[in-house]
Amino acid sequence: MELIPDWAAERRNMVESQLRSRQIRDERVLRAMQAIPREYFVPPQFRHSAYTDQPIDIGYGQTISQPYMTALMAQTLELDSSDSVLEVGAGCGYAAAVMGSIAKRVVSIEIVPELAAIARDNLHYVGRDGNITIIGGDGSMGYESRAPYDAISVAAGAPHVPESLVDQLKTPGRLVIPVGDRGDQELRVLHKTRDGLLWNVVTQCRFVPLRGGEGWN
Ligand code: SAH
Repeated sequence: MELIPDWAAERRNMVESQLRSRQIRDERVLRAMQAIPREYFVPPQFRHSAYTDQPIDIGYGQTISQPYMTALMAQTLELDSSDSVLEVGAGCGYAAAVMGSIAKRVVSIEIVPELAAIARDNLHYVGRDGNITIIGGDGSMGYESRAPYDAISVAAGAPHVPESLVDQLKTPGRLVIPVGDRGDQELRVLHKTRDGLLWNVVTQCRFVPLRGGEGWN
């Protein structure tokens, strides 16, 4: 007999042991991650490990981020319900779902067409596609037609900060982006304010490489 996992319990456990215990304090983020069924965003063969403390292979050489990293990025962006958000690198759509359950709307760009389609299907399946648009294409230069954004999240490691992303931010606005070499990066946060650009380092990290015009070729 096969046991059906208690997904809500796994989710609760993930929120407590991986997020609250590591300084994720933003209740909106914790609530969002308690609500979004991550098990539907990982490939079926990895569903049993949907809530483990690590990234998971989603095919096409890409991954769904570790839950903690998704939470940390969303918390760092200080999202609220009036925000218009751009994500670069939708992958399977999980982080878009998390941010979309907090913010007003999310547009997320994905360079692998098959993943863009999977992200769209996943979001539709879990009923979270109402305020989220997945666009297939290169997002390394942002997405001008919906700009400006209150918050931008880049989910792939960039060799440098693309200027167009900073330009597409509102003032005030926030950007999180992993910057470094192909293997290791630091997660940086930008606060764009009337007084100028304020950069901080959040943590060391390891994302898949950002491709496209402003990424690694
Ligand atoms: N946001 C995802 C993580 C995705 S991994 C999550 O929910 O966990 C990063 C994704 O960025 C990969 O799917 C990769 O294909 C995509 N990517 C890389 N370069 C890109 C680019 N220039 N534009 C859009 N997507 C890109």
